[in-house]
Amino acid sequence: MLPYVTIHDAAASLGRNLTYAETVWFNYSATKSDYFLYCHNILFLFLIFSLAPLPLVLVELGRSLGLDKYKIQPKVRLSFSEMFACYKDVMTMFFLVIGPLQLVSFPSIRFIGIRTGLPLPSGWEILLQLFVYFVVEDYTNYWIHRFLHNKWGYEKIHRVHHEFTAPIGFAAPYAHWAEVLILGIPSFLGPAMVPGHMITFWLWIALRQIEAIDTHSGYDLPWSPTKYIPFYGGAEYHDYHHYVGGQSQSNFASVFTYCDFIYGTDKGFRYQKKILKKLKDESSETQNGGPYHISTQGLKSD
Ligand SMILES: [Zn+2]
Ligand SMILES: [Zn+2]
Repeated sequence: MLPYVTIHDAAASLGRNLTYAETVWFNYSATKSDYFLYCHNILFLFLIFSLAPLPLVLVELGRSLGLDKYKIQPKVRLSFSEMFACYKDVMTMFFLVIGPLQLVSFPSIRFIGIRTGLPLPSGWEILLQLFVYFVVEDYTNYWIHRFLHNKWGYEKIHRVHHEFTAPIGFAAPYAHWAEVLILGIPSFLGPAMVPGHMITFWLWIALRQIEAIDTHSGYDLPWSPTKYIPFYGGAEYHDYHHYVGGQSQSNFASVFTYCDFIYGTDKGFRYQKKILKKLKDESSETQNGGPYHISTQGLKSD
C-alpha cells in the first residue's frame, strides 16, 4: 500500500511529476496491501503453468506437419491425454504446495526488503537485478541439483522429475513436493541479495518459470530468441540430462552452461555433440532420427 493519498501527494513526495508507468502503478496499487500485491504471484504462476506450455502441446500434436525434425528425441511421442495427465499433476502440486508456499512466505519478502512504493525502478535497474537473480539461481540450483543426483537424493526425491526421460513443457515443474520446496531457495536467494521492487520480483518469478518451460520443451527450435542469450543452455542442453536419467552426471545447470563447463560436468554432452557432428558430416542419412536416436547404441551410460 502506498503512503500517499492522492497522486499529487506522491508527486510532491518525489519532487517531480510521476511518469506514465508510475501513474499506472499508483492507480493500481495505492489502495492494495503489500500482501495482496505479493499474492499476485499465485495468479501469474497459475496462468504461466497453464498457458505457456500450450503452444508446445500444439507443436507435439502437429509433428506430422513438419515439426518432427525439431524434436530432440523424435522417437518419443506423447498423446494429448498423457500431456494433460502431467498438467493435472502439476496443478495438484500448485494447489497443495506452490500456492500455499506463496501465501505463507510474505514475511520473508518483507524481511529482505522487496518494496512496492515509488519511484519505480528504471528499466536498467530491473534488467541488472534480473541478471543477478538468474546467475545466483543458476549457480545455487546447479549444486542442489547435483546433490539430488546422489543415491539417496535421487531415489527419495529427484526421481520424480526424471520420470520424463524426454521432457515436455508441462513437466518443467513436475517434481516431488520436497524438490519444489528445496528449489524455492535458489529462486529466493537473488532477490534476498539484491532486493528490488515488487514488479521486478513478479517479473523474476514469471521469467524463471517461462525459462524452465522453454528448457523442458523437448524441441530445439531454430527461431527461438533464447539462441541469442550468451551461455544459455536451452532445451537441447537440459534434454540430454533427462535422457541420460538417474545416472546423469552431466548438464546439471538450470539456465546457463558455464557451471557445467567450469566443474567439468558437461563432458558427456559435449562428447555426444562431437560424435553426432561427425556422424552428420559422414552421412546424410541422419534425418530419420535425431541426436539421441543416433546415439542410443553406444553412448548412453546405462
Ligand atoms: Zn536431474
Ligand atoms: Zn528437468
